[in-house]
Amino acid sequence: MKTEKLPHVVIVGAGFGGLETAQRLRNAPVQITLIDRQNYHLFQPLLYQVAIAGLVPSQIAYPLRTIFRKQKNLNFQMSEVRAIDFKGRYVRSNGSVMAYDYLVLAVGGQTNFFGLKAVEENSFQLKGIESAISTRNHLLRMLERASREPDPEARRALLTFVVVGGGPTGVETAGALVELITHVMVKDYPQMDVSEVRVLLIEAMSSVMLAYPDELRKATMNLLENRGVEILLNTRLTDYNGRRITLADGGHIDAHTLIWTAGVRAAEITDRLGVQQASAGRVRVEPTLQLPQHPEVFVVGDAAYVEDSKGQPLPMLATVAQQQAKVAASNLQRLLKDESPQPFQYEDPGLLATIGRNAAVARIWGLSFSGFIAWVIWVALHIYRLIGFRNRLVVLINWAWDYFFYDNQVRLITRE
Ligand SMILES: Cc1cc2nc3c(=O)[nH]c(=O)nc-3n(C[C@H](O)[C@H](O)[C@H](O)COP(=O)(O)OP(=O)(O)OC[C@H]3O[C@@H](n4cnc5c(N)ncnc54)[C@H](O)[C@@H]3O)c2cc1C
Repeated sequence: MKTEKLPHVVIVGAGFGGLETAQRLRNAPVQITLIDRQNYHLFQPLLYQVAIAGLVPSQIAYPLRTIFRKQKNLNFQMSEVRAIDFKGRYVRSNGSVMAYDYLVLAVGGQTNFFGLKAVEENSFQLKGIESAISTRNHLLRMLERASREPDPEARRALLTFVVVGGGPTGVETAGALVELITHVMVKDYPQMDVSEVRVLLIEAMSSVMLAYPDELRKATMNLLENRGVEILLNTRLTDYNGRRITLADGGHIDAHTLIWTAGVRAAEITDRLGVQQASAGRVRVEPTLQLPQHPEVFVVGDAAYVEDSKGQPLPMLATVAQQQAKVAASNLQRLLKDESPQPFQYEDPGLLATIGRNAAVARIWGLSFSGFIAWVIWVALHIYRLIGFRNRLVVLINWAWDYFFYDNQVRLITRE
């Protein structure tokens, strides 16, 4: 009996876009190879919790082989894709060359330092587990050093924590950081004078949370300022040597900590594909998410440049990546049946960001609200979206413990 060879689908990237695509093709008549340079799926929205000593990495990451244990039409390969030959239809990774019939690129994004080399070298970022752990170690080390520093000026520089970028990640990090120090660390460092601690949020534009409605931007600023975060708007940073920040207006801030959350761009591999790129290096795709001239290739998530009905690029969000993955998987199956692919349309599920204990801002079903209710929704949604029952339970217990006892779990300085 002759067995028919199934079309081979290669998915590069097992983040929100790649994972969703692979799961949606579970029952499709295809053989899938899912490639990622990491062996786990990472829930990036909670990375800042690792940085502020609230969670351990294994609570927000899940092994890919475990996720796909039961999916018979999928093989996982841990490797880094270095090049793609769209004409020959193969991907080249470290150590192997793999042919495909269909390709889904879901390689995500990386931090954009906009060419500020010194800032890149001397600052901290929140992108992967390693960077979040480095940030945690550094923050805790600064408190240790400050505790034995007799010179008040030097101590203040050690206790000045600057977050750059007033988007949701910057806001969440600044809010969580000020709480970590003023509610938790003060107990470990009873000699610390909290008035010497500064947490600053620097934003180049005229407001934080630019994508949010006006009332939520104001609510965010109030919530942050009430907690003790200093917000500097219309402030551009030009240089940082690890000790001193230089601002565009010539001003300086002495700080040993700078966390950069001011920009994201498409993953580096997109620069090496010879494809048309738009802003932030994102790959231009057809409305059906197919690569022009290569209908067998789909690009989804942060790496894809797609505009909304007003001509604005869709934001780099997990919700966008997941919705695009759903459409890419459906279009791929349509191609298998010789049907025309359908265009992608983003359905905005709303906006949600937390500022700290009992405080979040939300825009859901056209309604804006802030404070405790928004925070409860944020907690429930993030627990629900984590992968694995055990992770959900452990994170829930952890957060409840932190909430009642003001006690972040992971205050460990580890070797890197
Ligand atoms: C700190 C932080 C907080 C965020 N908070 C939110 C939030 O609250 N809500 C929200 O909706 N979004 C949030 N986002 C954005 C969200 O995480 C991204 O939009 C989403 O992850 C994009 O999904 P993706 O599949 O395109 O890419 P990713 O999820 O980044 O996945 C890309 C995958 O591709 C792999 N990869 C990359 N290059 C290669 C290669 N060459 N070879 C092999 N593998 C490769 C990577 O290892 C990774 O696993 C946040 C992001 C960050 C960094």
